[in-house]
Amino acid sequence: MSETTNAVQKKAEAMLTADHCLSCTSCMSSCPVMEATKEYRGPKLVGPAHNRMRFSQEDVEESLDFCSNCKSCDRACPSGVEVSTLNMLQRAEYYRTHPHSQRDDMLAHGERMAKMVRMFPMGATFANLGMKIGKALGIFGSMGIAGERDMPAYASSSFLSMFKGIQQKPSEKKVVFYPGCFINDNNPEVGVAFVKVMQKNGYEVLVDEKFNCCGSPLVVTGYLDEALEHAHNNVSRILEWKRKGIPVVACCTSCSLMLKKEYGELFDEEEMKEAAENVYDAFEFLAMLEEEGKLNTEFKSLSQSLLYHVPCHLKSQGFGTPAARILGKIPGVKVELADAGCCGMSGNYGFKQDKYEISMKIGEELFGRIKTANADKVISDCGTCRLQIQHGGHVEPCHPIEILEKAY
Ligand code: SF4
Ligand code: SF4
Repeated sequence: MSETTNAVQKKAEAMLTADHCLSCTSCMSSCPVMEATKEYRGPKLVGPAHNRMRFSQEDVEESLDFCSNCKSCDRACPSGVEVSTLNMLQRAEYYRTHPHSQRDDMLAHGERMAKMVRMFPMGATFANLGMKIGKALGIFGSMGIAGERDMPAYASSSFLSMFKGIQQKPSEKKVVFYPGCFINDNNPEVGVAFVKVMQKNGYEVLVDEKFNCCGSPLVVTGYLDEALEHAHNNVSRILEWKRKGIPVVACCTSCSLMLKKEYGELFDEEEMKEAAENVYDAFEFLAMLEEEGKLNTEFKSLSQSLLYHVPCHLKSQGFGTPAARILGKIPGVKVELADAGCCGMSGNYGFKQDKYEISMKIGEELFGRIKTANADKVISDCGTCRLQIQHGGHVEPCHPIEILEKAY
């Protein structure tokens, strides 16, 4: 079966869920983009209604481009309509007959760019300098990237190179860490903290260099065939680890959602659903240890107030907020949920110049909460949520795993 046939076939299945729409409008009241701009016609009309009414593949709802794939609509829908999937499949169909912009090509292919950067000695330093110059000269702005934002800087060493230098205590109990692009190339400290936490819990951490980007940036920019190639590679790796009885754990909620749920929703292959059973988000895995009475809770006191922004893509995984509960066990730590909805960043959405204002408007509630909460630290499990918190909230956030690591 060709990749195109596969995506189109899935389209027919998602269409069936469109027929379950009751027009209750729950998705509309939960859509952060619809609240931020009148230009977006909203999940009900763009997703199920348009997909039921359209007469040809070329007939694409013109406000579709505003959807950020935050998935709030899917969570709100009482009828199981795959609204965000309908939107992403419709977007992919549009790009089968329309060219991508240079900006979208760049935003979708972060992994490719990082690989090029790391081919050269001091590549990260020169690339970071180049991005600063590019911003100052308005080059990114002319490409349609929000000039107000800094592109995330490359870390001097990737997580995969840093991992080689970590001395671990060998153990029978093992997990494979899936770093994803952002942790590997921009925020490797999160991966290092994860390894240390797992070691404190008696696990040895492995990595698999054959994994590639989960494909989330490709899906939201309409490169669905490429995303399917990534899915096939990653799923085959996950299944190999599954056969060995070793779970795969991710620290970025958009990566874990993609590996666990979105592959199945978008491409509907049996192997993807089987692989999903072997993938966990980091705190989901730690919560399992906690339930079994196996979580190391010998914490030292930290005396810190934390404001926790729960990413949309964590909420979509439906396992609650175990990070808040686990961090709350650390003596002296007080965790408060920001409860301020979507941060507005949604992966690469907030980097687009034409979406910047919408992104910042969506984030206003969270920025306000950050200001009034006056916490010692803001925490969030998603790398791009942390970028938005840094940009709009003017604080330096971290991943909850970094706090847990400090407590050991
Ligand atoms: S995925 Fe998010 S932005 Fe897109 S329609 Fe649903 S709620 Fe709105
Ligand atoms: S929440 Fe679901 S059922 Fe209600 S309008 Fe939206 S898609 Fe239709």
